[in-house]
Amino acid sequence: MQVAEALEKSPVIVVADRCVVVRNRNASCRKCVRACPAEAITVIANEVSIDPASCMGCGSCVAACPTEALVHVGPTDAMLKQAALRSMGQNDGCAVIACARIASKRQADPERYAEVPCFSRIDEVLIVDLVAQGATSVLLVDGNCATCKNRVCLEAAFTAVDQAHALLAAHGNDIDIASITGFPDEMKVEDTSGMYGSSRRGFLSDALGVAKDTAKTAAKTAIENELGYKIDERSIGERLRVGPDGKMPQLVVKRHETALNALDMIGQPESGAIASRLFGSISINTPKCNVCGMCVTFCPTRALMRDTPKNPSDRIRYFEFSAADCVQCGLCKDVCWKCAITLSNEVDAAELYDFEPRVFRIGSA
Ligand code: SF4
Ligand code: SF4
Ligand code: SF4
Repeated sequence: MQVAEALEKSPVIVVADRCVVVRNRNASCRKCVRACPAEAITVIANEVSIDPASCMGCGSCVAACPTEALVHVGPTDAMLKQAALRSMGQNDGCAVIACARIASKRQADPERYAEVPCFSRIDEVLIVDLVAQGATSVLLVDGNCATCKNRVCLEAAFTAVDQAHALLAAHGNDIDIASITGFPDEMKVEDTSGMYGSSRRGFLSDALGVAKDTAKTAAKTAIENELGYKIDERSIGERLRVGPDGKMPQLVVKRHETALNALDMIGQPESGAIASRLFGSISINTPKCNVCGMCVTFCPTRALMRDTPKNPSDRIRYFEFSAADCVQCGLCKDVCWKCAITLSNEVDAAELYDFEPRVFRIGSA
């Protein structure tokens, strides 16, 4: 019922056990709070919530969250990608994405563009993924942002485009991402009646048009499809319990994987370092570290692992860090009571694509 109620007012669902603040109340992550132009998100103790009355559904928080703890369902990432791919097929490789304001004018064939509530719904992973799928350019069609009530959300859209440009440039791609107010003349159609069936109304309006029980099922299925696992009924405490291996349940962050795979398909990195909000790199001040392993316990993605010493009498301990798995959440740094960890948004390209972990050697023989 929570999901159904949230859906009625906000298309963003909080998946609590993916939030690093829920995993550990000392986590400093407030990326969603900072990204939200409506001040709709609160993080108190170890709980994150969205005030549905304030939320504009822009999706800025979704793009900013490193662990996919926030999921947009109007449209979901998968639905948006599908629509954008379809538009590429209709526009000679150009992915056309239109905001709801201009889409509501019904001036173009809806098969030729993907619709988003606002450009802030677009993130760099979508753009990079479309390029990997053959997009030759990206065109964002707006309904005049200057006069739109959502214009405060635009910063998120610029951030996503800048991040996409930086990631693509590091891989030798300089795709044109243009924006235009109103559909270009060649996309306009005199009579669009008959082109706009109920299938075009989008997930949220469809869900709201039916009984609450149906909306609940639709929402749950959409989220589960997006996440790739069933949302079970166990309490959060049970779901986040430390297991016999001394670790908390670990996450696969699909957007992170999608971006990495897409960039790999686009081409070899040209620059030595890649700066982004998607990938992180840590360093450990080994003389400070007392090998308590809190960082390993709380790392949500297996980016940081403890390596078992080959010889049990060996007093040297080893931690392994895999840049390809680090989502820049900062939890390892926040839980390290020796303040031995630093986190950077710059990742060495060679390390990112070299799936051998970096080893930290701690202690002396
Ligand atoms: S969707 Fe936009 S308005 Fe709603 S909580 Fe997220 S950032 Fe704030
Ligand atoms: S950005 Fe994500 S992980 Fe960070 S506090 Fe918000 S919901 Fe939690
Ligand atoms: S290594 Fe640190 S910053 Fe990277 S995912 Fe793990 S906890 Fe987050």
